Order: sequence, then structure tokens, then C-alpha cells
Amino acid sequence: MSIQKYVLHSARINNNCPECYSTEGLEFTFEQENFENRFYSKAKKEVIETLYCHNCKQQVFPVSWTEDIERVHQYHSKLAKPKSSMIKLKPLAYILILFDVITIAVIIYFLNNN
Ligand SMILES: [Zn+2]
Repeated sequence: MSIQKYVLHSARINNNCPECYSTEGLEFTFEQENFENRFYSKAKKEVIETLYCHNCKQQVFPVSWTEDIERVHQYHSKLAKPKSSMIKLKPLAYILILFDVITIAVIIYFLNNN
């Protein structure tokens, strides 16, 4: 079982950083976590949003966002389309299901012929 993070969307924005006031450091990142094992993979529903300032090297939390940052955030969060959180089966799972179906069919066949 492993958990990976996928970047759905990231964008450098030119708003003022609320911490260092630089207009060149802010970057929005939208990520989604994905569980994966041998049988299936499944994305988590929630999208992890981070605003990071490359100038002052720290994460800017929503409490210190300005109205302008909120607006840019709204725009970019629409571009970050989350992946479906449905379970995606891998070939190994299909093989096991097929194997089960065949086993059950064989059992039923023998039960009916005795
Ligand atoms: Zn900064």
C-alpha cells in the first residue's frame, strides 16, 4: 500500500506575499492523495491546497490571505479538477474476480450434475 500525491494544478501568482510583500514568490499548489495497492487505486476526495512563498520560504496559511489572494484562489481552484475518487481496479483484481467466477461456475456445474 502506498500513498502518492498528485499535483492537479499549480500556478505562480503575482500577488503580494502577506509575509514578505514580495510579488514574485507566491505559488498555489492543488494536490490530491492517491492510495494504491496491488489490487486497486483510489484517489481521496479532498484536494490539498497550499500557498507557498518561494521568496520567504514558508507556507502562507488561509488566515493571512488577502482579498486579492482569495479571488486568485477561487479562480485557480476551478482549474484544479479533482480526479474521481472511485476505486480503480487493477488487472490482478480482474484476474482474481474472473478466477472466482470460474470457480463458482464449476462448483454449480458439479452440484447440478450429482
Ligand atoms: Zn513571502
